[in-house]
Amino acid sequence: MLQTPTQAPPEGARLAMELIGLRQDIDRLELRFSQLAVAYDKTEHWDQEGSNSAIDWIRFNCRMTSTAAADRLAVGKRLDQMAQSQQAMKEGAIGFAHLTVMARTADAVGAAFDEGKLLQLARQNSPGRFHYKCMHYRHSVEPKAYADEQAELAENRKLRLSTAEDGCLLISGVLDPIGGAVVRTALEPLARATGAHDHREVEQRFADALVELAAKGGRLQVQMQVTTSIETLLGLIGAPGAETEFSLPVSATTVERWACDCSLTRVLMKDSVVIDVGRAERVIKGPRRRALIARDRHCQWTDCERPASWCDGHHFVHWTRGGGGEIENQVLLCGRHHWKVHEGGWQLIRTDDGRIVPIAPTITFGEPPRPD
Ligand SMILES: [Zn+2]
Ligand SMILES: [Zn+2]
Repeated sequence: MLQTPTQAPPEGARLAMELIGLRQDIDRLELRFSQLAVAYDKTEHWDQEGSNSAIDWIRFNCRMTSTAAADRLAVGKRLDQMAQSQQAMKEGAIGFAHLTVMARTADAVGAAFDEGKLLQLARQNSPGRFHYKCMHYRHSVEPKAYADEQAELAENRKLRLSTAEDGCLLISGVLDPIGGAVVRTALEPLARATGAHDHREVEQRFADALVELAAKGGRLQVQMQVTTSIETLLGLIGAPGAETEFSLPVSATTVERWACDCSLTRVLMKDSVVIDVGRAERVIKGPRRRALIARDRHCQWTDCERPASWCDGHHFVHWTRGGGGEIENQVLLCGRHHWKVHEGGWQLIRTDDGRIVPIAPTITFGEPPRPD
């Protein structure tokens, strides 16, 4: 007698459905938590309890990180501007993580916030990808604020080198997104596995790559690709950030520095069509570069003597704004000082006797920065 095989319950599919349903329930609770957090923030209870802020009280008593508590409060405060998005979340089209990114974006761009446009992006992208798209959105509506934020991140960079008792070098540190992308671009090709018999761990390969890079000094050309539009290069309002392989969107001021005299591959776009692929070579080259090096010899910033091989040729008037390639329009600056002129907002003035004087950006409070 034939027996119908009993169908095994599709365990994976059942668990998948349960996970999605549970996450939607949690997201709805997160929304409720955000509303309560904002109402709580308006009371004086946290103050009476001796906390510095509502976030601080929630962090401690609800057993959360301060970032998680602050995210809930940020969402709660923006709920009246995100009505359609709340609805989309209740329908399961987006998650609470999308709402967090949207609320943070609203905080960053202020009056330029456009829920409809962002909700469309949220529906089409994972929360991580949505965060990336929102960075482009922020650049397009507030290029100056975005560039300032990137410059601030760069100010927090650090690299700690210490020698352990057995002589090993211990390295730890933080690089800003742009600096990090440059380092990764330099290390990645050197850290590739050299074949099927290369059994080194990824981290061992990166360690070897760093040593190899250091051994080659500045003689290794970093082949970094930047994809950008003409609008971004010109710093026009509404332009998205530029893209590189290993970084969040890059601000217009950084792209301007790279385009000044870079050894990076440029891909220039207009209306999504590639119109120019620059080769990885310097803008100032051949006899012109030799003339510039002969005249300046080293970085021309006050008291900086980094050699010409570490320097970029900076254009006083950038070529995107009609500056020419003549030597009078150029000056050698090391990487750090070139950064100060573009992202850092310093100005360079050439005196009558040919000296270069850096002028600090105008600031509204605190000590004026020194030309270090
Ligand atoms: Zn420059
Ligand atoms: Zn310098």
